[in-house]
Amino acid sequence: MEGNDQRAGRRMQIGEGRISGALSIVFGAISLGGVLCFLVPDLLTTPEFRAQYNIGVLRNILAACLFGAFGFALRSLIANSSKRAALVGALLGMLALSLNGAGIEGGVVNDSPVYISLDWLLLDLIAMALLFVPLELFLPKRQDQTKFHAEWRTDLAYFVMGHLLVQAVAVSTQAPVESLLSGIDLEGMRNFIAGLPYLAQVLLAVLAADLFQYGVHRAFHRIPFLWRFHAVHHSTRTMDWLAGSRMHFVDIFFTRMLVYLPLFALGFEGAVLYTYVGIISIQAVMNHTNTRLPYGPLERLLVSPRIHHWHHATTRDAYDKNFATHFPWIDRLLGTYHAPGKEWPKAVGLYGVTFPKGFVRQHIYPFCHNPGSVLPADKTSTR
Ligand SMILES: [Zn+2]
Ligand SMILES: [Zn+2]
Repeated sequence: MEGNDQRAGRRMQIGEGRISGALSIVFGAISLGGVLCFLVPDLLTTPEFRAQYNIGVLRNILAACLFGAFGFALRSLIANSSKRAALVGALLGMLALSLNGAGIEGGVVNDSPVYISLDWLLLDLIAMALLFVPLELFLPKRQDQTKFHAEWRTDLAYFVMGHLLVQAVAVSTQAPVESLLSGIDLEGMRNFIAGLPYLAQVLLAVLAADLFQYGVHRAFHRIPFLWRFHAVHHSTRTMDWLAGSRMHFVDIFFTRMLVYLPLFALGFEGAVLYTYVGIISIQAVMNHTNTRLPYGPLERLLVSPRIHHWHHATTRDAYDKNFATHFPWIDRLLGTYHAPGKEWPKAVGLYGVTFPKGFVRQHIYPFCHNPGSVLPADKTSTR
């Protein structure tokens, strides 16, 4: 046990069985969640996605996850002196198997008005983990950083809740956007955009979204009442692929609403909007990832992890810089770019502020406290 205590909190090494133990739990949880999605699709899956699913492919993914849960459990049992993770992973896998595993029949769909997007959570977790875990494992920036740092559960809770409630946020932001746009004649502009090639539409959508995102992000930094909520995002002291999920729901609601505003106003077709959602989903995660993946000259065109890590830096010259998510030249043009040379910030987080820990406390805290204004006059004392 003593050896395990010493290993806790430090980066996991390949070969000691801890990575396989963690993977066994992740695959076991995804398998059980996947089976539940098949069992109660009405309450646990997203109607828009259901129509697109290829059930055969989903069953294969489920079978692969079950194989991963048991395979990594076995590997961890052999290599790790602590058997706990392997047993939890195997137990989750067995629960999924007891419900028929990948052979499970789909449940009845009655188009329930109330549901959570467990399907989106599981599929995006698989996709994001496949993309970003290898990057952090084999090409890390901070070599000694562990995935299982002091606040990884908090960030995972944000990832889970953000995905489960994605549809609730979309529905609640849609009505204000539609009422804002009602009465404005956008027909001519929409016809012009519909006539553009698909790639030009995607580029335009990302540019319009990033310009609005820049504006709303800057407002969240400059207006003290809004900063209370955005400070949650900046409270992370460990940048990794999950850290970007840490956003207060007030922040998510206003940011999404104002980013979707130009996208709906310009009337992009569904395929363009889905491509934009794919791009933002990947880049928002990538920007926070703990990776030294070299961008080279591409860093002038696209926001890299290094550029966004500077946005989270504790040093004063980096405050209120690098607001853009996609295009760093927006910050260059508007005088808010800061990413000297090839340097990385030494530390990230809220300087001199003790921020509460945990998903629930961090959601309540901004309503009662201001963790420090970012207005220039206040910069010497807070944040
Ligand atoms: Zn920010
Ligand atoms: Zn960020």
